[in-house]
Amino acid sequence: MPRDAAYLTLEQLIEARRIGHELCFLCGADLDTENRSDEHVFPKWLQRRHNLANQKLTLLNGSSIKYRQMKIPCCRTCNGIWLSKVENRVKSASKSPTRWRELADDDLFRWASKIMYGNIYREAFLAMDQADPAAGMIVDEEFVHELRTVHLFLQGVRAPIEFQHFRQGSIFRAELVDPDPDHPDEHFWFYDNPFRLLLAMRTGPVGAIVALQDNGVIAEIFQPVNDTLANQKLTHMQFMELAAQLAYIRVSLNRTAKYVMVQGAESIQVIPLPLAGMSGLPLFEEAMLSSYATLLSHMTGWPLEEVMPGDDQVISFFEPGKQIYPLAGLMNPTSGLFRARSDTGS
Ligand SMILES: [Zn+2]
Repeated sequence: MPRDAAYLTLEQLIEARRIGHELCFLCGADLDTENRSDEHVFPKWLQRRHNLANQKLTLLNGSSIKYRQMKIPCCRTCNGIWLSKVENRVKSASKSPTRWRELADDDLFRWASKIMYGNIYREAFLAMDQADPAAGMIVDEEFVHELRTVHLFLQGVRAPIEFQHFRQGSIFRAELVDPDPDHPDEHFWFYDNPFRLLLAMRTGPVGAIVALQDNGVIAEIFQPVNDTLANQKLTHMQFMELAAQLAYIRVSLNRTAKYVMVQGAESIQVIPLPLAGMSGLPLFEEAMLSSYATLLSHMTGWPLEEVMPGDDQVISFFEPGKQIYPLAGLMNPTSGLFRARSDTGS
């Protein structure tokens, strides 16, 4: 909880979720010339560091937009005070793997939440088809409202929200090797799935894969992955592959977290309902090699036929003896294999 956060009631936090060009995306305040500012979904420091401003980001409808145009309306207080505190901590931590590991989980959850929510919020103002106004916006406002819990938890930057004896999500932090001088664009990589609340990003020597609202179960079950990452640097391709495996695992999770929020005297307490609930379904769906291959191809940009050269094999960028295969735990052993790329002879 931010020590200097203002006391706000749960009702105020819920009412803060308002959508409009003239409203702060975070606190819902009406904006005028005095208090209006633009919040960059991808912060300016990140754009400068990787020369992203004029590079393009692919939107949910397949169209693209320059990173510098990914701005959402925000009041000066939320932008210049609450969000910038988190931004400064993430910026400074992301310069070195040691500091990256020391960055508070809450900062990473909030930072990832702002980007994920910000992308969707921005897309709610962008036409699906520039030539056809009747086609509506890329994202329906209803979808922004579906992310209400992301928005509510994000307000932890400005209000005291306490998570009672649980982790709100899972984080995997990685240290990356320097990119090949032939591929300077590998200094930065971003992927998010707002439907299943997963975000992965690489900036320079560090990366993080963040799953929201799984109550920490993925990090708990796949703790050995974080143990390995503490001692093993990843290449760019390995990081993307691990992100694809964890994204698949997040999609395969058969539970939706639900919470009870209680107004306390000094804070808002968030209490999770048991994740298992009444469901008789297994915690995760069984992984299908072909659907994982499709996701890996989408995330890496590698052609599907190269990612899955045979029916029962998908390539891996991990070297033998240094594999990180959390997804194998969700896979029927007879359904297929990861095959190290160095073994393929290509
Ligand atoms: Zn605000």
